[in-house]
Amino acid sequence: MKINSLEEIVSFAKSRGFIFQSSEIYGGLSSCYDFGPLGVELKNNVKKAWWKAMVQKRDDVFGLDSAIFMHPKVWEASGHLEGFTDPLVDCKKCKKRWRADHLYENKGLKPDFKPGMMNKNEIRCPECGGELTEVRNFNLMFKTEMGVVEGEGNTIYLRPETCQGIYVNFLNVQKTMRKKLPFGIAQIGKAFRNEITPGHFIFRTREFEQMEQQYFVHPKDKKEYFNNWKELRFSWYLDLGIKKENLRFRQHEKDELAHYASEAWDIEYNYPSMGFKELAGIHDRGDWDLSRHSQFSGEKLEYLDQENNEKYIPHIIETSDGADRATLAFLADAFETRVGSENSKHEEEIVLKLDKRLAPIKIAFLPLSKKEDLQELTKKIQKELAKEWMTMYDETGSIGKRYRRQDEIGTPYCLTVDFDSLEDKKVTVRDRDTMEQERIMISDLKKYFSEKLN
Ligand code: ATP
Repeated sequence: MKINSLEEIVSFAKSRGFIFQSSEIYGGLSSCYDFGPLGVELKNNVKKAWWKAMVQKRDDVFGLDSAIFMHPKVWEASGHLEGFTDPLVDCKKCKKRWRADHLYENKGLKPDFKPGMMNKNEIRCPECGGELTEVRNFNLMFKTEMGVVEGEGNTIYLRPETCQGIYVNFLNVQKTMRKKLPFGIAQIGKAFRNEITPGHFIFRTREFEQMEQQYFVHPKDKKEYFNNWKELRFSWYLDLGIKKENLRFRQHEKDELAHYASEAWDIEYNYPSMGFKELAGIHDRGDWDLSRHSQFSGEKLEYLDQENNEKYIPHIIETSDGADRATLAFLADAFETRVGSENSKHEEEIVLKLDKRLAPIKIAFLPLSKKEDLQELTKKIQKELAKEWMTMYDETGSIGKRYRRQDEIGTPYCLTVDFDSLEDKKVTVRDRDTMEQERIMISDLKKYFSEKLN
């Protein structure tokens, strides 16, 4: 099995328990996915690594978990009600919907949505070649109603980004943590966008997870912090194993900047079948968010610098990462093949070279045979180590086959218990990457894996 295309990743992810189609038994809900037993571990590890780098290891960034539902005024102030739209066109023939900006991009043209321009630029339906309607703006926010009474006043939105929960809590965090500027607030959570053309597996879905951090600074310092964050976010991906040649920066052109941004860079990943596409963003949001929320709420979201006796609205440097896009990138980047080993009949075997911190299962427990005393000892050791690490037990098939199964899902260590173990109290630990095997005393295992895994 080779993994070169997105399609192959989709099928691998399904067959190995990483990612399933949502509501599959009902024919599936398009562009919605469920993370299976291994996928949830991988994604959790991505989120944990992000939290560790962004919150735990820093004393200038605090965590937050704000509600998905927010006061409807938030989305007026943020500009989403008016401006969070994508340019939509319908095919007059096959009725398929498209994002007009993507159609222009595909032709290598600069978007122009003025009436008549689609025809003039000879942009047609990519599916059937039909004529397209004029461009209209489509708001991406999901609407629902809150409370038991239906009607206008109860309209509420599912948040399309997590950062607004951070802005409205700026003063709560600043005051309770008694923190001077600059400092940041970070959170991980679900966001929802009624994307016109979702697709490419978990790259673009309507329900996804963001990992966002907002850094509040004095405007005079912001360029320095902007550059710092840009480098930090990029190196975070490299540190966790993304290959350098698959990662790059792309600066937003003036005319593609979002309504709030004065400078923006994407970190792009070279996704299989798609090429370089946005994985994360670093944005200079200026004082847009805090001044708009001050204006709409009547609450002054200012900072008083007592030392310099200066009152000002902080500027914001935002780092915005998608947990799903990151999970897909780490997964895609980790596939390697090696020529058949360990009695394998396969020509090439997959080794998922995930960083150990991201690997769903850290240690697999493999008794050499199904003899009761081996099973018992294996389970006893597993029970102890499972207090610290995610583990898996597997006793079916030859040992070579079981190693291959673990290599495929990226398990860094396999631990084999054999008949000698009953006598010498040692087990064999095999390393996924070097395939080297070591005999380790059972009583030393905790220390051994602490050094290897922590
Ligand atoms: P795109 O141009 O691809 O639509 P965007 O510029 O709208 O993305 P942002 O608003 O900057 O994206 O969102 C921040 C991050 O959230 C993105 O870098 C991405 O990782 C993630 N993200 C945004 N939309 C989606 C989606 N529909 N599905 C999965 N992740 C998403």
